[in-house]
Amino acid sequence: MEAILIVDDDLNLCKVLAEELTEMGYKTSYVTSADAALEFIQHEPINLMLLDLKMPEKDGFEVLRELKVRTVTFSVIVLTAYADVVSAMEAARMGATDFISKPYDFDELLITIRKVLQKDV
Ligand SMILES: [Mg+2]
Repeated sequence: MEAILIVDDDLNLCKVLAEELTEMGYKTSYVTSADAALEFIQHEPINLMLLDLKMPEKDGFEVLRELKVRTVTFSVIVLTAYADVVSAMEAARMGATDFISKPYDFDELLITIRKVLQKDV
């Protein structure tokens, strides 16, 4: 079973998305801060991270920066609050594989997740 970690400061989004992805057969976890995410991946192997760019204190860019240093093997899809092309491109430059704009369309999100996970195989 492929493991997905959702990282978003919006707890409600985390809960809803985790439920949706669990229903689709993914082992899904969530955390609501950058620090919690970096802590989580030290103990739990994941296949994919869904990462919100806009979070208080440490943001998604700081997580990407940290992941680059640690040379992790999983892919990252960033979540941007709106069609923020500049942020999405910056995130891609920093190692994100793809992006989804919020509010997300679940079917589109699922297509992107499947596409990114397939690339890793
Ligand atoms: Mg946010």
